[in-house]
Amino acid sequence: MASSWVPVPSESDFPIENLPYGVFKTVRGPHIGVAIGDAIFDLYAASQADLFGDAVPAGVAQAGSLNPLLALGHDSWARLRRRLLELLQSDTMDVAAQDRAQFLVKRADAQMLMPFEVRDYVDFYSSLEHATNLGKIMRPGSEPLLPNWRWLPVGYHGRASTVVVGGTPIVRPRGQIKTEAGNPEFAPTRMLDVELEIGFVTGAGNSLGEPIAADRAREHIFGVVLVNDWSARDIQGWEYQPLGPFLGKSFATSLSPWVVTLEALESHRAAVPKQEPVPLPYLRSREDWNYDIALGIELQTGKMREGGVSADVISRSNAKYLYWSMAQQLAHATSNGATISPGDLFASGTISGSEPGSYGSLIELTWRGEKPLKLSNGEARSFLEDGDTVTLTGRCEAPGKPRIGFGEVSGTIVPAR
Ligand code: MN
Repeated sequence: MASSWVPVPSESDFPIENLPYGVFKTVRGPHIGVAIGDAIFDLYAASQADLFGDAVPAGVAQAGSLNPLLALGHDSWARLRRRLLELLQSDTMDVAAQDRAQFLVKRADAQMLMPFEVRDYVDFYSSLEHATNLGKIMRPGSEPLLPNWRWLPVGYHGRASTVVVGGTPIVRPRGQIKTEAGNPEFAPTRMLDVELEIGFVTGAGNSLGEPIAADRAREHIFGVVLVNDWSARDIQGWEYQPLGPFLGKSFATSLSPWVVTLEALESHRAAVPKQEPVPLPYLRSREDWNYDIALGIELQTGKMREGGVSADVISRSNAKYLYWSMAQQLAHATSNGATISPGDLFASGTISGSEPGSYGSLIELTWRGEKPLKLSNGEARSFLEDGDTVTLTGRCEAPGKPRIGFGEVSGTIVPAR
């Protein structure tokens, strides 16, 4: 494994093999950086010192968002990563040791901003276990999987402008909720939930009318983030038929601030589960496209925080459980000739495993509140209460391979307005 002149603590999510991109703010204003150990390598500062040569245009390295970098495309992403590896490795940095500090910012001193402007947002429904559980809960007594599920990656268009960076407080939404009498009332949701997801962001796109083949997805996908698709189940349950989720989802979606590149994930590829029936030809790809990313949901209630009690881990899942891969999702989303743009976000849908402890949402973990979670401090939860903080984590870890961590995405529920 490579080593860097930047110290990397042994348990860090961000060794030199990772180098995820984000946008951070200090007194210096929003800059692009890559995380390494407890630090951020400042691309703006490095560009000003002319460390990149022609690896990346100054206007891209000195931008306040990743969108210009996303627009450059795959070859440029690879060239910049190679140059960053050269700059950060112990034996290839061509700047004297005493001059290197100017390129680093402590992560603890930086505020993380949205890594990119989300141009368009699609959320899929690609976990077989999650779709089956939700079918059983939402439509009891009927076949849990609808007939199209095994033929296409089901998805809906979400709201790009309410995607927020981790750390942003989440205001409990109000909406129409069906009452016992059958009529709806307009009230704060009583079934506020999380969805444990990953998402990918695309770069340069296709032209209108030109689908992207599954085997060419790698040229268009820049990297992967953790996504919490906050959901109000009571609002969702009343509105979602026949056109799908709307206001039960669009109030907020949280992203992790660090974008882990596909190149960094390369050593943690995993097989896609067996697909039966065999997908139509446009959904087939030669490569295995899943990733072995251990995922977790942590919950800390307001009471736990006041008492200095650390968060409970309430679920452990893995991105490798996904039935439909990112390549299939992108091929399907463009199969009608729809275009993608730099900054488009495609989320996976809730990722659940087969065991109850691996479910990726509270509605599954508590089976719609029938089996409330018992927390370590004696409290119980069916759905989220005001003051609760939810944190999603993701990390690739396997013997002999570099650890590739995602950091975390968290959000605290604040009362309805
Ligand atoms: Mn979702």
